[in-house]
Amino acid sequence: MTDNLSAILYKKQDLRLEQRPIPTPKDDEVLLKIHSVGICGSDVHYWADGQVADFVVKAPMVLGHESSGVVESVGKKVTHLKPGDRVAIEPGVPCRTCKFCKNGRYNLCADVVFCATPPWNGNLCRYYTHAADFCYKLPDNMTLEEGALLEPLSVGVHACRRAGVTLGSKVLVTGAGPIGLVSMMAARALGATKVIMIDLVKSRLEVAKQLGADHVVHVTKTTSKEEAAAKILDALGEQPDKVIECSGAQASIRIALEVTESAGVIALVGHGEHDINISIADAACREVEVRGVFRYVNEYPLSLAMVASGKVDVKKLITHRFKLEDTLEAYETARTGAGGAIKVVINCVKQ
Ligand code: NAD
Ligand code: ZN
Repeated sequence: MTDNLSAILYKKQDLRLEQRPIPTPKDDEVLLKIHSVGICGSDVHYWADGQVADFVVKAPMVLGHESSGVVESVGKKVTHLKPGDRVAIEPGVPCRTCKFCKNGRYNLCADVVFCATPPWNGNLCRYYTHAADFCYKLPDNMTLEEGALLEPLSVGVHACRRAGVTLGSKVLVTGAGPIGLVSMMAARALGATKVIMIDLVKSRLEVAKQLGADHVVHVTKTTSKEEAAAKILDALGEQPDKVIECSGAQASIRIALEVTESAGVIALVGHGEHDINISIADAACREVEVRGVFRYVNEYPLSLAMVASGKVDVKKLITHRFKLEDTLEAYETARTGAGGAIKVVINCVKQ
């Protein structure tokens, strides 16, 4: 056991496959043999642009944060996992002592160590150590690929919880990329009666319908917010009371403020344009709430239960599979969206 081939981003557009030493787990950690790693939009941005918002790649960094693996060995304080256990890896380990950690909102911890967010290494490699309590044992009826996809699913579950999606909710999801799709699937599982999605790209809306959206509305760059709202009302038959914004586009936020029912909630998942121009007065007078969404907090167990119980089928998101050795091709596929790519998954097991 010496092969620890790792996908390392040196700088913008400089991704190399190199050997690294196999790490030793600390007392409260496990050593994992990584199995599946999904590619997320942020990974592609780090590779293509060398940065995402204020996070800049300044030193070589192992990519990958949507991952699962098999426990190889455990630190001496670890009691709930043993070698051979298959686990999903929650990639952000917070400080556990700050105000936010103590209040149960550890996703807001300023000192979180998050895989593949500079300066922290991710786990697109063969062997990797992680805090044992951020590893979730998979039941026998779940695959390791499904385990890796609990990461994006948890974003969707958290978005729905922030928006207050529950039995009977009428939900609008703006943007039908991977995050919009998992939000739609999570909303369904949480009991929403109707889910409608909008996007600029017709093929993405086709996928949305196949994966369970009740209605889809195609918008263009020239569709006004009034026109879009009218189409949404027409399809849904009533106003949505929850909106999950997953495009990051100003135009979608404007549509959301226009169409959301009074007292409804808009959860902002998409992080796109920095300064956005919206008129808030009308929505404020109607007590529409706009809430931020950042990653997830305590959502892994719920996402796992959704998949294990068959309420959400995350496998349907996977369009492409590659080996670790073919990481560059995998990233290129995710970047271009070639072949209708939605979720590209890399298998890290030595073949
Ligand atoms: P993506 O780029 O694959 O999907 C975005 C979708 O929005 C695309 O299908 C695109 O066609 C559509 N879109 C763009 N402009 C639109 C418009 N004006 N109207 C309607 N649809 C429009 O991205 P993704 O991986 O699905 O992620 C979605 C967003 O969520 C990104 O902004 C990403 O940064 C963000 N994100 C946030 C968190 C968080 O913690 N809040 C976590 C993961 C991703
Ligand atoms: Zn903290």
